[in-house]
Amino acid sequence: MSKRIYAAIGLILITVLFTVGLGIIKNKDVKESVAYDGKAYSETRECFGTVLTITLYAKEDEAKSIAKKAFSECTRLENIFSAKLDGSELSRLNATAADGPVNVSSELMEVFCAALYYNELSDGALDISVGGLVKLWGIGTQDEKVPSAEEILPFVNADGCKYIVIDEKNGTITYTSDKISVDLGAVAKGYAAGKIKELILENMENAAGIINFGGNIVTVGSKENGEAWNIGITNPLRPSEICGKVSGTDMCVVTSGNYERYFVKDGVRYHHILDPFTGYPADSGIISATIVGNDSMQCDALSTACYILGVEKALALINSIDGVEAVFIDDSGKSHASDGMSKYNLNIGM
Ligand code: ADP
Ligand code: MG
Repeated sequence: MSKRIYAAIGLILITVLFTVGLGIIKNKDVKESVAYDGKAYSETRECFGTVLTITLYAKEDEAKSIAKKAFSECTRLENIFSAKLDGSELSRLNATAADGPVNVSSELMEVFCAALYYNELSDGALDISVGGLVKLWGIGTQDEKVPSAEEILPFVNADGCKYIVIDEKNGTITYTSDKISVDLGAVAKGYAAGKIKELILENMENAAGIINFGGNIVTVGSKENGEAWNIGITNPLRPSEICGKVSGTDMCVVTSGNYERYFVKDGVRYHHILDPFTGYPADSGIISATIVGNDSMQCDALSTACYILGVEKALALINSIDGVEAVFIDDSGKSHASDGMSKYNLNIGM
């Protein structure tokens, strides 16, 4: 093999390891960092309870100033969508929407509408009304525990989204049950990553870079010479390694995995993607669901939904939607790709 090919492979591996390696950082290991290698500027900060890395192919000063704007944008969005921040718009809505219609910002309205749409499309798997269940399990917090069957019972098959009433014309949201608490953890990071991409495009000529928001990866433009980006897929059985890659320009790659946030009790792993039909962490056979497409929030919503649905239903769902592809890894390590996945040059092997 020629030196050039070796160099190209090296570059691919670096990109893959770089993007994926950062995607699997656990919250407690977060290291804020800034680096510039003469071509790419990369800045990592904690935001929204996870890690945001912005990589921009630009001169250092220009990239730094755009990254600064991007991190402020992230904080602004956290103040809308976080269910954990007491003063966020969502927390205020959760506290008052059972008393009557609450006026909400257009951005919160947009995310609620999308989440309810994907709730229907996924036959209830994606369910933002799991806020109470998320708090009960407390996964990733100091209060994480295995709740008792009695505690879980009220959340089983609760179909809470039917108590969320949206009035788009008047810009209000009402909860028709005082038991409802919304958690946007499955979609808000995808929405935010899309917004950050818009900000980069507005502020940068010939924009090129990668946003990695806690495993929600959004690429901007293409690399030098119009080359595609290579994004690695984490091996869910050995999360410090990658087991595959996809490539493309201007794409989003979003993975929901059982290795991202979990605790182990008596040898059982309890992870953070909850099955609204059982009230327990989803146990569909899928342990990693990666969605590739162009709309970051859509990919985020679908990755969570597919994880819960299991291989067969998830493949049928993805194959029925234009513009998205997926690859799922099951608990035996086998991968399952959607019909059009080859257009992203999927290369996977466990
Ligand atoms: P990650 O946060 O690792 O990217 P996901 O996008 O799959 O993972 O979202 C998981 C988060 O969404 C959980 O931490 C929780 O806040 C929330 N959640 C858990 N189960 C569901 C569900 N069935 N529907 C909607 N949101 C969920
Ligand atoms: Mg998601």
